[in-house]
Parts: sequence; structure tokens; C-alpha cells
Amino acid sequence: MIENGRPVVLRRGTVLTMNDAHEILRDADVLVVGEEIAGVGQNLDVPEGTYEIDASDGIVMPGMIDTHRHMWQTALRGYGADWTLSQYFVFFYLEWGKIFRPQDVAAGNMLSAIESLDAGVTTTVDWSHGLQTVDHADAAVDALESVPGRFVLAYGNIQQGPWEWSTSADFKSFVERRFGSKNDMLGFQMAFDVTGDPAFPEQEAFKVARELDVPVTTHAGVWGATNDDGIRLMHDHGFMGPTNIYVHACTLTDDSYHRIAATGGSASVSTESEQSAGQGYPPTWQLRKHGIPVSLSMDTSVWWSGDLFCAMRTTLGADRSREHLEAHAKQETVTNHHLRAEQVVDWATRGGSKALGMDELIGSLEAGKKADVVLVKNETSPVMFPVLHPYGHVAFQAQRGDVHTVLVNGRVVKHEGKLVGIDLGRARAAIDETVEFAQTTIGDAWEGGMHPEVPERQVRVNPYQYTEWGKVK
Ligand SMILES: [Zn+2]
Repeated sequence: MIENGRPVVLRRGTVLTMNDAHEILRDADVLVVGEEIAGVGQNLDVPEGTYEIDASDGIVMPGMIDTHRHMWQTALRGYGADWTLSQYFVFFYLEWGKIFRPQDVAAGNMLSAIESLDAGVTTTVDWSHGLQTVDHADAAVDALESVPGRFVLAYGNIQQGPWEWSTSADFKSFVERRFGSKNDMLGFQMAFDVTGDPAFPEQEAFKVARELDVPVTTHAGVWGATNDDGIRLMHDHGFMGPTNIYVHACTLTDDSYHRIAATGGSASVSTESEQSAGQGYPPTWQLRKHGIPVSLSMDTSVWWSGDLFCAMRTTLGADRSREHLEAHAKQETVTNHHLRAEQVVDWATRGGSKALGMDELIGSLEAGKKADVVLVKNETSPVMFPVLHPYGHVAFQAQRGDVHTVLVNGRVVKHEGKLVGIDLGRARAAIDETVEFAQTTIGDAWEGGMHPEVPERQVRVNPYQYTEWGKVK
């Protein structure tokens, strides 16, 4: 048993420091004392009573950072597996999003928060756009605070215009009450989209964000939803800056990418989401041409689970896939990939810490930073050896089940493959109640909501079908 507050050392691992030089240390230790990393190196001297974790044959890396997840939707985990973005919008924005009560938002948040820790995601941005009332917001925050991870509440409300909820007295007093003092474990952003309405009503919300001095995160460049107009309006009105996060940023023109790059903002890329839902082609192949910083995100577990191993893997694949496709269209062959495994591991760690303005605190394993540490190690897995290319191993070989130990802010929250001090039973009871409520309320539409119509299939006429197989031996 590792008591809170006891120093911890991870011994003899392959350490991906993710420091500026991207140093990899073999057979090295990471020492955690209190909330911080006290040392990284070989054969570290440690204080008496330090708990030792054998990291040999494992990879020690910084906790991963998800910069955009609608955590409340985890309550309906997997329900939308066959959806497109259109069905998602109809379900949550138009028809059923409003039935979610504060306790339902809390249930989803709690499960999603626990899921993050299990997968080595130590910081998660809760892109919380189901906050119809301040009671919902309090419930969302209570749930996040009940789980020992690092979170950022990105406050949103799809049932109202951002100019409405952000200017309400309720919202302002909530922010003061819950976020009045600085807290490294729970940050704050405002979350809303810019539709491109020439009157730019969203500017009122941007003004509130500026007043409160909080970042704005926005779905930008989403096929059929947001486009260059939103970027142009934000830019022309002076609301684009380095703290802005542009989620997806898929279907934008060079002009918008130039504006994002010039103002120092970053993109949150949700490759799995973009591939399935249809926001646009996962944009890293564009973003890297413009030098736009990237972080990774999972978007929503109504489709897929929330772990960044999947994000790294699919992002590498999508980027390379596009590169090959573009080359083949010109009868060319890609002989050397642009995007490397090392880069996506950076996006999953440093990319996130930079996007959130938390790079001084987290994102790398360096003495003095907060101890958000992940050990990827699984002695019973045939996939965990040999570890020849550590970045490649993290991006293409490892998965959530290989997350052996996780520390957040110096506290061990997962060890030997099991969550520590987490009440999964409580989360399950809350989820059960929400699912039952949703199912009852949605009624007859519940089944159909899960199984959208399949378009008519037409099998092409195949000229090779003249052969009568029965006659050929
Ligand atoms: Zn989203």
C-alpha cells in the first residue's frame, strides 16, 4: 500500500522525459516527493521510506493530456457507435440533450474522469456544453473534484446562445464561487462555437472571457457547422490569441490557418472523431504545414473510449494515409514520412500542456514539475517486448491495459494495473440510474436512436461474374 505523501521512485525504466531536448534515458529513475518530481536520472538517491516501483521493461512517460472531451456524454457510452455528426447534433443539440439533469452530467463526468486516470490521461479538459443551469455546472465540478485527476472545466451550454449564458448573473457568480482562487488541479475555460452569423453575437461571450481572463475553446472548421467565417469574425474583432484552442480545425482554408498561426493559437485534433463523425479530414497534415501547435483529444465517449493511445495511433495513421493519398494522386511515392511517432507522443503530452498554458507545471518529466507520471509496463503481454523504439512503442504498440502505474500531482491513482482509491461501484450506480432515466424518457425512440438507417446499398455490376461457379471445378 502506498500511503499518500510517501515519496515514490520508479526504478530502471526507459524514461521519455519529453523535455525540450526530448531526452530518452535508459535504465533511469523518476523520483516523486510530495506533489513534485524531485529527480530524473540513473541510480537516484532517495529519501528513507521511499516506495520503490520496478519500472524495468517499462516506459515511464509524462501523464497524457486530453484537451477536449464532452465528459458528460460518457453516461451514454457507446450509444452513438453508428452515428454521423448529423445524428449526434440531432440527438444532443435538438432532441435529447436537454433531458440531462445535474446528476446525469455528474455521472458521465465521474466515469469519464476515472476512465482518464485508468488510461494514463492525467489532465482532461471537460468540454462541458450540457450546462443548462448553474446546478448542472456545480454537479459537473463536484464530480471532477471527486476523482483525483487534473481537470479543466470548459463551461458551455448548447441550449442557449453563448451571449445569453455567459452574461447571466448566475454564470458570473458560479465562476467566482468555484474558480475564485487559482487551482492547478481544476482549471477553467469558456466553451462555445462561432456560427459565422455576420452580426457576430458571440462577441459578447468573448468579452466576458476577456474580462475573466480565461481561454476560449471553440469547435472550428467543422464540416456543415463552423467555417472560415467564424475565424474571420474572431480575428477581425480581435478575439484570436495564444490561449485559444480550435477544436478539429479540419475544413478551413489557408487564410484561416494563417490567422490561427499568426495569433499563436493551437488546434485540438480528435482524429478518431473526425474519421467517423465527419467533421473533416483529420487536419494534422495541414496544421504542420502552417506550424500550428497541436494537442490531441477524444471528443466524446458516446462513440469511442477515451484514451490517448488510440489518438496517437489514429493520428499517425490519418496523417500518413493522407500523405500517401496525395502523392499517389500525382503518381508519386512517399519514401519518408513527415509525421513521426515521437511527434504524436509530444502532442499527447507537451502539446496539451502548452495548449492549456500549463507547460511550466506539467507535460514533461523534469525536476520541479508536478508529478503527473505514467508507467507503461505489462509483463504478461507479448506486445510489451522488445521495446526498441520507445516512441513507436507508445504510439503503435501500447494500449490502456498496459498502463501499470499512474501518479497525478504526486499521488498514486493506479498501480499494478489497478485503480487505487477509486470507487468504481459508485460511478456504476450513478451511471445505471442515468441510463435508466434516459431510456425511460426517450422511450420508443431509444432503440432507433442507436441504429440510424443504413443507406440503400447497390452492388456494382461486376464484369467478372460471367463465370458460373457451379460449372467450374
Ligand atoms: Zn467536440
